[in-house]
Amino acid sequence: MAFIKIGQRILTAEQEFFTANVSCIDTGAGLILIDSPCFPVDIEKWRGEIAKFSQDEISYLINTDFHWDHCTGNSRFTTNVIAHDLTYTNIAKQDGTGFRMLLGPNSLISQEVKDASAQIPPALPRITFSETMYLHPGGVNLELLYMGGHTEGTIGIRVVDEGVFFSGDNIVSGMHPFKLQADVPQWIEALKKIQAMDIDTIVPGHGKVCGKEQVGIVLHYFEEMLYRVRSLKEIGYSQDETVESLRSMFYFFPVDERRVEQIGRFFDAGTRRLYDQIIF
Ligand SMILES: [Zn+2]
Repeated sequence: MAFIKIGQRILTAEQEFFTANVSCIDTGAGLILIDSPCFPVDIEKWRGEIAKFSQDEISYLINTDFHWDHCTGNSRFTTNVIAHDLTYTNIAKQDGTGFRMLLGPNSLISQEVKDASAQIPPALPRITFSETMYLHPGGVNLELLYMGGHTEGTIGIRVVDEGVFFSGDNIVSGMHPFKLQADVPQWIEALKKIQAMDIDTIVPGHGKVCGKEQVGIVLHYFEEMLYRVRSLKEIGYSQDETVESLRSMFYFFPVDERRVEQIGRFFDAGTRRLYDQIIF
């Protein structure tokens, strides 16, 4: 858990918060944030770190997807939020971010933190795009690229001159990729695109900052999963039988022992979704 600098311009809170990794890019002409922490104490801590890093104003905040752990704190940083069209659509839905679900009884968060978090007003993105958006503040070249995969609104952000890519949750390190709302074939394509990019450093949605080797690990996992589910469905396995069989892949990534039950449920539900998506 750390606040780390990547090159001169980028500050990342690597595994610092319970929620997603968050980052700040100092363009020299305003700050660009990537994702926001969720809980009030984390929001304050991150604001403090940003202020130490640069005195510049926050220009924009970019959400890599619509899940609560990426966007709940948006309004505490800026209203200039950029995201994919479908991230907008999902945040606009009744509990589209899954935040209410988090506030329910089955979670590791204390009631005090839940109550404080529930007071944060949601902030919808004000600027959206469908395929690609380019930003050039202060001569820094940023590419916002539609990827899909992990969610229908997942994007990645490439800081071209720094060789850095913010992958959102299409890449995580040291934990399970979350596939409950995923499109696995699209996720595989996204990972292949990332593999082909001219980049050195990846800031994953969760877990430690990594290099391209992590792309291969996640790619192998999903190719194997897709192959197994497709093969089993093809030879007539029912959905339940396929879910049962796929559990052998559960420990492909480390699992937080306090959350085995929850992660297991998400894992199975993601397998069911993939089974339904495969059509011959
Ligand atoms: Zn997510």
